Order: sequence, then C-alpha cells, then structure tokens
Amino acid sequence: MRRTWRSSVPGRGASGVLTAVVTFAVSVGAAGAPTLVVIRDGVERVLTAESVRGFPAVGLRELAGALGYAWNGEAIEVDSRRVEFVPGSPFVHVGREVHQLASPPYRSGDALMLPVQWATEWLPANVPHRWRYADARLIAVESAPSRTASSAGPPATPGRRSRWVVVIDPGHGGVDPGSIGPRGTREKDVALGIARELAAALRNNGSIDVVLTRNTDTLIALADRPRIANLANGDLFISIHANAHKHRRSVSGFETYFLAVAQTEDAARVAQMENAAARYETGKSAKELDPITFMLRDLVQNAYLIESLRWAELVQGTLGGNLDAPNRGVKQAGFYVLVGTNMPAVLVEVGYITNAQEEMLLRSQAYQRRVARALGHSIERYLAIYGDRLRYAGEAR
Ligand SMILES: [Zn+2]
Repeated sequence: MRRTWRSSVPGRGASGVLTAVVTFAVSVGAAGAPTLVVIRDGVERVLTAESVRGFPAVGLRELAGALGYAWNGEAIEVDSRRVEFVPGSPFVHVGREVHQLASPPYRSGDALMLPVQWATEWLPANVPHRWRYADARLIAVESAPSRTASSAGPPATPGRRSRWVVVIDPGHGGVDPGSIGPRGTREKDVALGIARELAAALRNNGSIDVVLTRNTDTLIALADRPRIANLANGDLFISIHANAHKHRRSVSGFETYFLAVAQTEDAARVAQMENAAARYETGKSAKELDPITFMLRDLVQNAYLIESLRWAELVQGTLGGNLDAPNRGVKQAGFYVLVGTNMPAVLVEVGYITNAQEEMLLRSQAYQRRVARALGHSIERYLAIYGDRLRYAGEAR
C-alpha cells in the first residue's frame, strides 16, 4: 500500500468487534464502468465510480452513505474528525493537519467527486481501528466492548451482544475455473453458488457476520485469502471446493480437510490439485509460496489444529445427515489456502464434479442450497459447543 501522507495512528487493540463488512471490489460493471461493492450490516450497495480524470472517483454523498458517515458540503465527519476536501487540490484538511492524496477531488455538477484512493488507502491508514483494507476490500471494524464484556459485566444490551465473524472462501474464480465436469460445470461457479447460499443462511442467524473472500467471478491469490480472513478478525474460515479425479470418474462423495501433513496419497493428490491454482497468480504470490514461508505460517494454523479437526468432524456429520452422497471422512493435507489463518480453518470438497451424476447435483441451485444449509448448521453447532473457547482465543490475539 502506498502511503503518501503522515500516519501516526497505532494498530487497533484486540478488543474490536467486527459488526459490519464493507467490500470494495473494484470491478468492471456491465456498462464498462468500475464499481465499488459495499456490504454493510448485511446490505449490499454498489457504487459506480467514474474515471473521467484518469483515476476512479465516487461522489462524496454516495460514499458517505455507504460508509455510514455524515457529510456536509465538501466535508465528511469521520469518527468525530472533520475531513475537508478542496476541489482541484490533492490536499485534505483533517483538523489542523494536511494530508495529500495522489489525485485531487473535483466537482461534477452539484456533486463533489472523491478519488477512490481516499476510501481504500486514507481511511485504513488514518482510522485503522475502524477500517482495514486488503486486496480490494475495505472492512469496517467497530471499536466496541470486548467479546466477553457482556458476560462479565452489566447485562447485555442489543448493541453489545456477542457476534461471530465467519469467513467464507469460494475456491478459484476469474481465469481459474477450478476443475471442470463432463458437462462443462466449473468448480469456481459451484463454489461461489454454495458460498452465497451459506452467507445468506448465516446472516439469518442474527449473531454471525459474514465475510466472503470473493463475491464475484474474480481470482484471489491463495495467499491473500487467509490474509483477508485475518484482517477481518474472523472466528472461522471455510474454503469451499468441488473435487475431481482425472481417471476414476466413478468416484463421488464429500470430504473435509484441515491443515496438517497429508496422511494418504489421495489427500496429497487433492492438496496438490488445489495448490496448483497458484499457477494463475503472478508476481508476489508465487514468491510467498516458498517452502519456508509455508512451514512458518503452518505454525499459526497448528495452534488451531484441534479446533479445525473438531469443526471438520461436524462438517462431515452435518453433510452426511443431509446428503445422500458417500461420506469420505475428515482428512488432512497441506493446502496453501489454509496456511496462516489465525482461526480454525477447514477446506470442504463438497462432491466430485468429475462424477457425471454428482456434477448434475452440484450445478443445481437446490442442491447447492442443501449443501450450504448443512455447512451453516455445522458452523452454528460448532459455535454453540466450542464458542466459549473461541472467545477466549479471540481475547488473547
Ligand atoms: Zn478447488
């Protein structure tokens, strides 16, 4: 991240509770215009950015509305700090300080247009206890009483109840289709379909916030997915995939993995297949996947080995109770996408896309919903049984 301004604000404390998720996915809409997708309190807002000055810009009023901040004329109120913009000038006045943006805000009719950079870089750098930004996603973090405050202190009020953050990672995306079934079904579409159904199911829960590592058909580097989860201060991480077997098309069924050294040839084969997605990535990602980094990060997930195993067992149990497909059990292998997640993390292969019958099921929305609901139940059951333990871990980190 480029920092073209002075920033003296320290990192957030450990007690922040994530209550809203804002996703800024700068993608190209149907009309060819870049858009900002904002999800806050479960409501999705799409801001259209214009690029008439050579950089993406959005209206102050629309942006303030999406972020939940008050605005007035050419100023926006950011956590009781007044941030003033001057059309045509890259300098931003913040109280008595002056910060510099790479591009100047400008007027367009009645609207004041702000460089998107202000939202994606200035906010996280200057209000880090409130905003985190990673990989085209701006995540709102609310400074709130700690997760255990309500149980130890005064009676819980509606605004102070315990909340959980579940990070859902739909596998593959963009140029990486994942595995492809005999009828052309793409793993990336199945994964995203189930992830969206799971997100919807969990949001109905009322005490679970959901972060999707991707909500569109876009490629996220393997190493960036755990990073997104960690920045979101997630409590649970689930990566969703569909399995494939090149030679044995009759193989079917679902299996759930946690991160550890592979115990069987088949588990190693699946991990190798999923890790091969790295070939679609460029630059930094390939470098980050060197063996030493892998092992060092592995230690982070090792701390959650038992929790991940327990959750994987619940996932297999609930899937087994809801699907007719063979239960292939809990397995372990070295998946890059689980490395470094600072929370219990599992990777679920919901079925074999190379099996013609299972492919037909996996491509149907009804089946995707069935799988998603079972996954949702595993998460609710996990939080009910082991939630207190997670709370403790959340305080410590
Ligand atoms: Zn996959």
